[in-house]
Amino acid sequence: MTPDEFRRHAHELVEWMAGYMENVENFPVKSSAVPGEIFKKIPDSPPLHSEPFNSLMRDFDEIIIPGITHWQNPNFFAYFPANISPPSILAEMLIATLGAQCMIWETSPAAAELEEKMMIWLRDMIGLPSGFEGVIEDSASTATLAAILTARERITNFSINNEGAEHAGTLKVYCSDQTHSSVEKAVKICGIGRRNLVKISVKEDFSMDPEKLKEAIIHDKKCGHIPCCVVATIGTTGTTAVDPLRAIGEVCRENDVWLHVDAAMAGTALILPEFQWMLDGREFIDSFVFNPHKWMFTNFDCTAYFVKDARALIKTFEVLPEYLKTRTRGKVNDYRDWGVPLGRRFRALKLWYVIRSYGTEGLRDKVRYHISIAAQLSEMISRETDFEILAPVIISLVCFRYNPAGNNEDKTNALNEKLNHLLNDSGKLYLSHTVLNGKYTLRMVTAQANVTLEHVEKAWDLIKKTARSIKP
Ligand SMILES: *Cc1c(COP(=O)(O)O)cnc(C)c1O
Repeated sequence: MTPDEFRRHAHELVEWMAGYMENVENFPVKSSAVPGEIFKKIPDSPPLHSEPFNSLMRDFDEIIIPGITHWQNPNFFAYFPANISPPSILAEMLIATLGAQCMIWETSPAAAELEEKMMIWLRDMIGLPSGFEGVIEDSASTATLAAILTARERITNFSINNEGAEHAGTLKVYCSDQTHSSVEKAVKICGIGRRNLVKISVKEDFSMDPEKLKEAIIHDKKCGHIPCCVVATIGTTGTTAVDPLRAIGEVCRENDVWLHVDAAMAGTALILPEFQWMLDGREFIDSFVFNPHKWMFTNFDCTAYFVKDARALIKTFEVLPEYLKTRTRGKVNDYRDWGVPLGRRFRALKLWYVIRSYGTEGLRDKVRYHISIAAQLSEMISRETDFEILAPVIISLVCFRYNPAGNNEDKTNALNEKLNHLLNDSGKLYLSHTVLNGKYTLRMVTAQANVTLEHVEKAWDLIKKTARSIKP
C-alpha cells in the first residue's frame, strides 16, 4: 500500500468509523453467532497474492461484524463496560502510526515522560496520597500479579527472585470470597499456590469482614505460615461491594502484610469527591489498580497501577542485559522494569487526549450521570412487587431478580436464567449474571459511555414485559 492509497483508504475508514458510532444502537447488542460459524467462513489458507483493500472491507462487514458483540451499544449492560471515546480512538490512530516501542526512556522519551505525568494526573484525580508512583499496565490482572509478586519478594527479602521458593516457607494471600478471579490466577502462577489463597467471608453487604481477616491471619501465623498480601476490593465484580480499607489496613499494618487494592471498575468513581469515602484508610495501601479502560472512556488496554514504594516494584522486576544498558539509567523511568513485558505501547497518549478533551469536570459529569441512572433504575425495580433488589446499589450496577409469588428458589433461579437468555437473544439489550447467596442474579451496569436514562427505561420495560410473559 502506497502512502497515497493509505490516505484514500484511511479516509474511507474514518467514514466507516463515524458511521458506526452513529448507528451502533441499531446493531444487535450480543452477537448471535454460533460456535464455528465465523471460523468456517475464513479460508483455510492465506492468499498467495495481494488482495484489494475493498475486499478486506467487504469481508469485515459480512463476516466479522455479525460475530461482534457491540460493547459500544448503549444497551450493553453486561459485565463491566469497555468504554471508548472519540479522542481515545484518535490517539490510538496516532499511537499505531508512530508504532513506537516504549520499553525504556531512550526508546521514546516523550512516551516515558508523558506516562509519568499522566500517572500523577490520575493519582491526584482519584485521591491517592502524593507519594504514590504509577505505571500503565495492560490489564488489572497483570497489575495484581505484579502486586503479589512484589509482596512475595518483600516478605522474603527478595530471596525467591534469586534462589527460588524452596526454603521460603508457606506464604498466604487473603481476599474476600467476592474477589475477582485474577487474584486466584496470580497466586496460581506466582508460585504461592492456589491452596494458599485464603478467601475471607463477607458481611451482608458483600464486603470483606475485617474481623474474619484478622482471625485468619493470626491463625496462619500460629501455624507457622507467612501472611504475605491482602487484596481488598473497591467495587467487586459481582455487586461493586466496597471492602473497608481502614479496618483491613490496620490488620495489615499490625501483621506486616502488603495491602493491594483492586479498584478496576470503581476506581473511576473516585474522581468524584462524594465517593472519596471508598478510599478512607488510603494511608495503609501499598499498591492500587484501576482500569481507565473500563469506565474512563479510554480504549483497552489501559490499566493504571500505583505503588507506594516504586523501588520494591523495580527490584522485583528489573534485569539488566548488556543491550539495554543506557547512559540515562537511574535518572529516568525505564518502565520495562515496572512489570512483566519488555515491549510497551505508547498508551499514555490516549489518556492525555481523553483527560484534556473532557476535562476532569467533564469526566465527573459523565460518571455522576451513570451513577444517578443506577439509582433511578433501582427505584423503578423496587416499585414492582414481583422484582427484588439483591445487593446495595453503590455506583453504577444494579443486582436484581424476577421473583413472582409462589415459586421455590430452584424455580426462581431457572426463571431468571431463562429471562436472561431471552433478553440477550433479543439483541435489544445485554445483561450478565452472578449468583448471590444461591440466588441467580441479573446484573445491569449503567456505565456504557453513551447510555442515557431513556435507554435504561426502555430496557426496564422490556425486562418487565419479557419476565411476565414467561409461562410457568
Ligand atoms: C474487570 C476487573 C478485573 C480484571 O480486569 P482486567 O483488566 O481485564 O484484567 C479485576 N478486578 C475487578 C474488580 C474487575 O472489575
